[in-house]
Amino acid sequence: MTRWIGAIVAGLFLATLPYWRYLPLGGAVGAHMDHEPHHGGQLGMFGDHHIEVVRRRGRMEVFVSDAARRSLRPSAVSVRLDRHAEIRLEWRDHRFVAADESDATLIEVRVAVAEGAEFAGSFDFSTDNSG
Ligand SMILES: [Zn+2]
Repeated sequence: MTRWIGAIVAGLFLATLPYWRYLPLGGAVGAHMDHEPHHGGQLGMFGDHHIEVVRRRGRMEVFVSDAARRSLRPSAVSVRLDRHAEIRLEWRDHRFVAADESDATLIEVRVAVAEGAEFAGSFDFSTDNSG
């Protein structure tokens, strides 16, 4: 739970405040009703999109979904690990993947959803072992 809150705060801080919607206020059925990680990673919400970042065995996987958690395939996904150079992920088997640096704690994700449209947010994995 603390990790989820951390992801929200970080995402807000970076870029998404004007698009923030958290509570389902009687709009589309199913939108923002599911905020559980589906792949054992960290989930963040950025506007009407969700990103799940999974790190395991030297690999990073990024899953992007819409408000109702239906999987999306963005045109591009890139990440920065601890503010190093941006890495472009490859689309493979319904997710974006890249090699991971196991000691990196700050994961900044940038998602291009259409020509000229993108959103970004960060994930803090520094508390991953402390709960
Ligand atoms: Zn949501």
